[in-house]
Parts: sequence; structure tokens; C-alpha cells
Amino acid sequence: MKALLLLAALLISAPAHAQFNFNLNRILDAAKNVGQATGEIDEKQEIQIGRDLGARLLGAAPLVADARVQRYVNHVGRWLAAQTERPDLPWQFGVLDAPQVNAFAVPGGTIFVTRGLLERMRSESELAGVLAHEIAHVLQKHHLRAMQKNAKASLAGEALSMALQDQNSLVRDKLISFGTELYARGLDKSDELEADRLGVVIAARGGYDPYGLPTVLQVLQRMNPDDSGLALMFKTHPAPGERLDALGKMEAVLEGYSAQPRLEERFASETKGAK
Ligand SMILES: [Zn+2]
Repeated sequence: MKALLLLAALLISAPAHAQFNFNLNRILDAAKNVGQATGEIDEKQEIQIGRDLGARLLGAAPLVADARVQRYVNHVGRWLAAQTERPDLPWQFGVLDAPQVNAFAVPGGTIFVTRGLLERMRSESELAGVLAHEIAHVLQKHHLRAMQKNAKASLAGEALSMALQDQNSLVRDKLISFGTELYARGLDKSDELEADRLGVVIAARGGYDPYGLPTVLQVLQRMNPDDSGLALMFKTHPAPGERLDALGKMEAVLEGYSAQPRLEERFASETKGAK
């Protein structure tokens, strides 16, 4: 919890390379309508559930003790989140001091990337691609919906909402426990592929070369699949090759934005403290 508060205290301002495109906006708007259909868990509850979950997951690894890299990742993440239909969530981004290769999001807008994954990136557009994939999970409430579905199996809809208002209820505890498990088990494959599709759009909308995420997927694909640092990522996500194939269908859209900046040098100087 202390680490989350620390993250919240890292103030940022938006970078100067703002670029908007209305075709991309339309793609995101279409996705937004799906996001509004969740129902019983309201935004305040979503944020609170995310805080509880984030505190639990943070127990597993501390944040990298380098204020510059934390500020930088927050800066890039909040810039991307500001381009989406949920700009007002309490977005916060952090780098976990773990050698494994992973990234994850909790409901309400808290997103972590591991030092192990950051070390394998070469540009800000790659970082943006990974963060945008996680932002898409939050926008589409993928984890929240999976948790809600699980809770509904044992409780009718309205009772769930009431039970969540009680901080100490057993239902709430069960929901958080299942949520914690979810990060070890993974989301549905369709949610992951959707996060990839929206992620490249969000990165492009933020003014980045949208091939950042595919580039990271290629790096993962080239790594030894038996590498223990990849185990959780590979268990919780479809194989990189399958994700790349799916993104390949968007090539015609992405190609139009591929001249946008990758920002390799800025990435190298801002992240050197984390290596
Ligand atoms: Zn994902």
C-alpha cells in the first residue's frame, strides 16, 4: 500500500508529441460501448477492488528504487491513458524489481511492468505498446468481469453490489482471492488478443510507432521458452507467434502510423537507473 501511495505521489506532465487521429478514435469508440455494459460494479468499487488487489500483488515484489524510471514510466503511461475514454481513472504505473518478464494491470488503472521486461525493450514505443496493452485490459474491465462472473456464480447480481459496499464482507474477500488467483491463471485468450488490438491503436493515438508491441512480442518469441523468467507470462498469455499473427491482420492500419517516433535514445537515458 505504501508503494502505491508513493506511486500516486509521483506527479507528471504530458509530453510534447501530441498527435490525434480520428480513424483511431472511431476504433476505440466502438470498443467503449462494450465497456459500458458491465453493470453492477460501479467505478468507485472498481477502483477499491483494484487497490486491494494491487496491494496484494505488490507484496510479491517491491518497486525498483529509482525515482527517475518510475516517473518516466508513469509519464508515458498517463500520457497514453489520457488518450482513452477513461482518462479520469487514478492511473498509476510502476516498475517492479523482479527479473521475470511480465506486465499486468489491476482494475481501476494500476499497471506494473517488471524490470525483467523493461530490460528487454529498446525504445519508448515498445514500452508504450506494452503499457497500452495493459491499459486496454483496464478499459475493457477484463479482470473485473472475470471476477464478477466468478462471484455471480455464488451470488445474485444485486446481492453482489450490496456485499461489495461492506469492506469486511466475506464476498469481498472471496472476490479479491479469486482476483489474485486470476493473475496466476490468466484471462481468456480473446481478452488478450483484444488488448493487443486496442493496445496498438492506443499507442498510435499517443503518437508512437504502433509496432512497439509487435517488436516486444518478437523479442519474447526469440527467447528460450524454457527460461523460467518467462513461465508466468507464457502461462497467462497466448504464445507470441499467435499474438503476432492476430496483429498481422491490422497491418494495413498500422502501416499508416509506422513513421511515428520510437524514441530509442530517450528510453535508454530514462531507464538506465533500472538496469
Ligand atoms: Zn494481457
